[in-house]
Amino acid sequence: MIDNKTLATYCNEYLNVAKFSDYCPNGLQIEGTSEITKIIAGVSANQDLIDQAIDEKADALFVHHGFFWKNEKASITGIKKNRIKALLDNNINLFAYHLPLDAHPVVGNNIQLALRLKIQNPQPMGDTLVWKGQIDAPLSDVAQTLHNVTGREPLIFGDADKPIRTITWCTGGAQSYIEHAIEIDADCFITGEVSEQIPAIAKENNIAYISAGHHATERYGVQALCQHLAQQFDLDYQYIDIDNIV
Ligand SMILES: [Zn+2]
Repeated sequence: MIDNKTLATYCNEYLNVAKFSDYCPNGLQIEGTSEITKIIAGVSANQDLIDQAIDEKADALFVHHGFFWKNEKASITGIKKNRIKALLDNNINLFAYHLPLDAHPVVGNNIQLALRLKIQNPQPMGDTLVWKGQIDAPLSDVAQTLHNVTGREPLIFGDADKPIRTITWCTGGAQSYIEHAIEIDADCFITGEVSEQIPAIAKENNIAYISAGHHATERYGVQALCQHLAQQFDLDYQYIDIDNIV
């Protein structure tokens, strides 16, 4: 058992929250019970995930995509009211960590994806949110490994036989960050989504591009974080995947 304020302080320090200027508040977004024994991890705080967390009698729900995004309406109406009311009625704490959970060197989405893809020497590229590393495989093998890891068929742009050595990636919806991969002449860039102009940009810069799923590439950080917390504070832990093909 741990109290919610102590857990929030621990997470904020562990994830270095103060270092980030983000599109949403990171940390305890909705306050619930002070005594936490059961935590649940999920990617996005939608109603399906909240309903399952209620069924599982969670004390805290940890997500990568929480509430209160910049540019969204501040008023608490409609589905936002439904989600928040369900959490408050059931005394469930909502913890959300966005960029700090992408970037963390141990439990972050990017390092966790790199470990699963067996990328050598994974490291962040300077001040960007993009990571780089080495691999030695044709594009088709990289794509197949991603398919196996995520359980989702990726969209592949490039010659299947293209040898991939310098590989770059950024979990989530980071298609515009292909520019950072082009700057260092990477052989391949992996992210979660793709936009209309990307296939041509990739082809003309001779870089392979893989769109592996926003949800699919961002499942691993929140799981690693909660496994760490469960061990550290002797908590019950469960991951709930609300399937999302995007
Ligand atoms: Zn995301």
